[in-house]
Amino acid sequence: MKISDLGEFGLIDRIVKTASYNTKRAPIGIGDDAAALLLSPSATLLATTDMLIEGVHFDLMTTDLYSLGWKAAAVNLSDIAAMGGVPRFCLTALGIPSSMTVEQVDEFYRGFANCVRKYGTVLVGGDTCSSRKGLIISVTVLGEAEKKHAITRSGARPGDLLYVTGTLGNSGAGLEILKNRIGGRVQGPGKTRNSMTGKLIDRHLRPIPRVEWGRRLATARVASAMIDVSDGLSSDLGHLCAQSAVGAKVFAERIPLSMDLTSAKGLKQPPVGYALSGGEDYELLFTVPPGKIKKLKTMSIVATEIGIITRQRAVRLIDERGHGRPLTATGYDHFRSRRRRRPVR
Ligand code: ADP
Ligand code: MG
Repeated sequence: MKISDLGEFGLIDRIVKTASYNTKRAPIGIGDDAAALLLSPSATLLATTDMLIEGVHFDLMTTDLYSLGWKAAAVNLSDIAAMGGVPRFCLTALGIPSSMTVEQVDEFYRGFANCVRKYGTVLVGGDTCSSRKGLIISVTVLGEAEKKHAITRSGARPGDLLYVTGTLGNSGAGLEILKNRIGGRVQGPGKTRNSMTGKLIDRHLRPIPRVEWGRRLATARVASAMIDVSDGLSSDLGHLCAQSAVGAKVFAERIPLSMDLTSAKGLKQPPVGYALSGGEDYELLFTVPPGKIKKLKTMSIVATEIGIITRQRAVRLIDERGHGRPLTATGYDHFRSRRRRRPVR
């Protein structure tokens, strides 16, 4: 169905049916000039917003709309997770090109709603416009942290150990596989989920925000600093160190890589290259003071110790022979001409 057959308000009604539900925390939700939202009495409000622009962040040749909706939610939930917060509410603003159908908007909101509901978050507003060129998505998530429990990027101290959850690199490798397939059929992850490359693609298209782990690291007061890995380990560790005015040593062979990545054939870079510069894994990178390590180990959070925070402000990658080299940021920068991707040996 054409969107022009429904009109703006018909489309909004449909979005509300697909993606919103009632909650006591939002006594006034979609439909008024603004939503009215309730926070827990002792909470600090967390707010984050991210844009996804067709041709910059995604390509409809390599993603289906359900996955795009899921990812638009997940990348924002991940930012709340990285503060150790609980995501509560979200708003979506869309610029929709005339080529898009009502069914495609439905698919987007089905993916979006499944992701936000899974993490206990509710859609409370947004905006809907036409776009002259390409699909434009802006998602805002509001969350809460207990007062003084939000974990910033700036709390790392020399001697703290550096941890990362899950594994890194799947998403970047998955993107490369998807790009190599352009010209073929657009495949959603569901169809390939059981194959190894399917799992890499799956992680790229439908990342998992580590909301529960982030919240527990905050309430147990175990992490001194935290960031989510959206741009690749090299860039995001650089941000954490810069904000904390410290450096770090990372041991290359400790960086957790999945079997699916290490056994994938035909990739352009060695597996660790995707971990360092691939980005979009949305794992949590955090630091733990030595006195809190015992506690962390009791928390059944899947995390690997990959290095240590240093007083000297350089960030270095140490190879298996103990040789170090500077770990320079190789993640995506929107205002540089192209990705500064240097193969990692
Ligand atoms: P206004 O003119 O006050 O901006 P709108 O007509 O744009 O109001 O929106 C009407 C209601 O629908 C508002 O509550 C707004 O938050 C909500 N809304 C509009 N677009 C979306 C969307 N894409 N997703 C969720 N809610 C939306
Ligand atoms: Mg509006």
